[in-house]
Amino acid sequence: MREILLIKNGELALKGLNRSTFEDTLIRHIRRSLKPLGEVKIRKAQSTIYIEPQSEFFDYDEAADRISRIFGIAAFSRAAVAEKDMESILAVAEEFLAPRLREIATFKVEAKRADKRFPVQSPEICREVGGRLLSRFPHLQVDVHNPDEVVVVEVRDFGAYIHCGQQPGAGGMPVGTAGKASILISGGIDSPVAAWMMAKRGINLDAVHFASPPYTSPRAEQKVIDLLRQVAKYSGPIRLEIVPFTEIQEQIGQHCPEEYFTLIMRRFMMEIAEGLARRSGSLALITGESVGQVASQTLKALCVTDEMVHMPVFRPLIGMDKSEIIRISRKIETFEISTLPYEDCCTVFTPKHPRTRPDAERVRQAEAALDRQALIEKAISGVRALLVE
Ligand code: ATP
Ligand code: MG
Repeated sequence: MREILLIKNGELALKGLNRSTFEDTLIRHIRRSLKPLGEVKIRKAQSTIYIEPQSEFFDYDEAADRISRIFGIAAFSRAAVAEKDMESILAVAEEFLAPRLREIATFKVEAKRADKRFPVQSPEICREVGGRLLSRFPHLQVDVHNPDEVVVVEVRDFGAYIHCGQQPGAGGMPVGTAGKASILISGGIDSPVAAWMMAKRGINLDAVHFASPPYTSPRAEQKVIDLLRQVAKYSGPIRLEIVPFTEIQEQIGQHCPEEYFTLIMRRFMMEIAEGLARRSGSLALITGESVGQVASQTLKALCVTDEMVHMPVFRPLIGMDKSEIIRISRKIETFEISTLPYEDCCTVFTPKHPRTRPDAERVRQAEAALDRQALIEKAISGVRALLVE
């Protein structure tokens, strides 16, 4: 018996050229994601992508797990393949469904005859398949209203497919269909969620992390890599740039009023991140900020940091409560990593009484004590890049 994965695209409203770019990009992601599992043949027809593994040892559970994380997939099914004749459909249904049918009491059959040349009409397919399953599994009953399982028979271009319905996909748009942006990633809960949300809309991610050794440890850096590795299961490989931030933080600590430490630091981060973004072709920055979460995320403070940036800054969490953010971080399995205890550079020099309504002019004056350009150039020259996948 041959098995296949049937993939239903998301965003069905897409038309024309957009649609084929969408599908081609999606297929590239599917290929890349399934590559370690062995050779697969992929074809598309009627807004469905067919994935046919070429090895009999193919790990379908692992494949389904990987597929469930690829953006641009609305739903997918794991199906058995039959010839387009009733005898084959009946035999394959019986064999493929046996393990599941032994566990349940009621079922119903649905048929979809996408190939209108198939001589048996849908109601007749349902009757015949239902009849065969009832006779082979006598404990079963048909329940059309509330069945334990819905058996689906789809007669399509290349064959007939039997499965137990669809699993939801990750939704969104295939990564890469919406250009590239750079996520400012800390080791916290928020920024990986923000990265995931923008990748879901088709944005390709680069990442920037500011590290302040020896105040921050190598394990804090490893934590960021582990977080990105988890995000990369959805987004595909992410290029990470690690910026040495110690000197900037020390200079701020020595020369600026304590109440502005965080804000001035954030302005440096934004300016450096923008410089790196332009260098790598990113069109926007992404942060995990949310209004009011901490002193540096009041509206006033956000305006003061935004002043330094001349490209769009996406903050997908801006209107979300922490509990909503945590719910997503658990779902995408970054929460456990984020809550490991290693220090972030933000927590190293935290003022006791940060300004929640900073005055932009005062911040600029406070900053004037520093040679910003020299510090920024030096930091950028010390950047290390690596690919996280
Ligand atoms: P995060 O969850 O992700 O740490 P947070 O609530 O701790 O969020 P802050 O520490 O104030 O928030 O940081 C706000 C945002 O600034 C983060 O979401 C992230 O985008 C960025 N950021 C903070 N620290 C760093 C860092 N060390 N490197 C890169 N970006 C950072
Ligand atoms: Mg943080």
